[in-house]
Amino acid sequence: MSEKKYYSAEAKVAFTPTEEGREEIEKLTAEAEAAARKAYAPYSKFKVGAAVLLANGEIVAASNQENAAYPSGLCAERVTLFYANAKYPDVAVRHLLIYAENENGPVEPFITPCGACRQVMTEKEYIQKSPMKVTLVGKTKVVTVPSVEHLLPFTFTTDNLF
Ligand SMILES: [Zn+2]
Repeated sequence: MSEKKYYSAEAKVAFTPTEEGREEIEKLTAEAEAAARKAYAPYSKFKVGAAVLLANGEIVAASNQENAAYPSGLCAERVTLFYANAKYPDVAVRHLLIYAENENGPVEPFITPCGACRQVMTEKEYIQKSPMKVTLVGKTKVVTVPSVEHLLPFTFTTDNLF
């Protein structure tokens, strides 16, 4: 019988004002906004755009794609990451930015990715062995985290499979 060790843990969210990386964020925001306006979201009217900056300097942007059979649709983050990975399979994603708007304009205070997208973001970051910055853009706040692990702690990765 193995000896177990017991721990407690907590997630803490703190926001620190910063101007760091603002130019890159503005560039990616413009791409994500343009992508959101092309979203296929006739049911939710919730238009999401995501843009990624790749290690080769390319920017890839895409939007959410809905379907009358609801579960068949896909979030903008996953459409973008899968599209980028299909186009540039071995290129790391340095930065993923997410923007969303509903019929009243940009979301308040900012968009956050769903759990399934966080899992896909985690796997990409894990495979590329380098951090993927994530920026969440809203009407009143723009929040950047230095790595996906801040959005999905205690991650499930391929290490857990074997
Ligand atoms: Zn999602």
